[in-house]
Amino acid sequence: HIDQPTVLYMDGVSVSFDGFKALNSLSLFIEPGEMRAIIGPNGAGKTTMMDVITGKTRPDEGTILFNDQHDLTRFDEAQVANMGVGRKFQKPSVIESLTVFENLEMSLKGGRSVWQALTHKLTSAKQDKIDEILSMIDLKDRLYEDAGSLSHGQKQWLEIGMLLGQEPELLLIDEPAAGMTDEETMKTAELFKELSKKHSLMVVEHDMDFIEALDCRVTVLHEGSVLAEGSLANVKNNQQVIEVYLGR
Ligand code: ADP
Repeated sequence: HIDQPTVLYMDGVSVSFDGFKALNSLSLFIEPGEMRAIIGPNGAGKTTMMDVITGKTRPDEGTILFNDQHDLTRFDEAQVANMGVGRKFQKPSVIESLTVFENLEMSLKGGRSVWQALTHKLTSAKQDKIDEILSMIDLKDRLYEDAGSLSHGQKQWLEIGMLLGQEPELLLIDEPAAGMTDEETMKTAELFKELSKKHSLMVVEHDMDFIEALDCRVTVLHEGSVLAEGSLANVKNNQQVIEVYLGR
């Protein structure tokens, strides 16, 4: 056990697929309000780690605690999401035939009431929430356009906005910069820094320029456990990390 409070506490977590250890006694801690980047070569266990945190995969052994109290291994995906752990997959899943506004409206915690659906009016609290999200994701001027007309980067931001509608405390985000232009990538880094003022974030990413821009603590996974942890400059100079990335 460690002394400081954590939003995510993983200790000795293992997962095997047909005898192959995708996670091998993984231990990793994230402090409340922290942003953490996760890197590692293909097959390192990054996706499996997100799967065990979010209740998609049950670990064979180990502890996973949310806010030092909820044992996440006892809940399914929907329950974990309800507790305040939001996950964004790599591919955006916005509904392209609905407007930006409609996508956001749908995502709000508590959904839309029958009255709101009939009158097309949102409660002022929900309108405020949408405004708050919109200023974060910078899509105010695209509000009434179909999500399908957005650029790839804008779709990713919209989907992050939709996650925010669920009011998550911890956000798990898979390769947000993949497929983005350099400009979108840097804008996304700024968005994440803004998000980290209110949320804890775990960001799996390969793009080193993006990670550098995030300017946060980095964890390197390899063969299902933590190989190195520290600043990007620090882990980049780690001999074991260099060997893993260069393939020895
Ligand atoms: P990463 O996301 O870092 O690329 P993954 O977590 O996807 O790594 O995979 C870790 C290892 O576990 C890989 O060798 C992968 O082939 C294996 N693996 C992942 N999921 C399954 C599964 N459902 N069945 C069998 N093997 C799996």
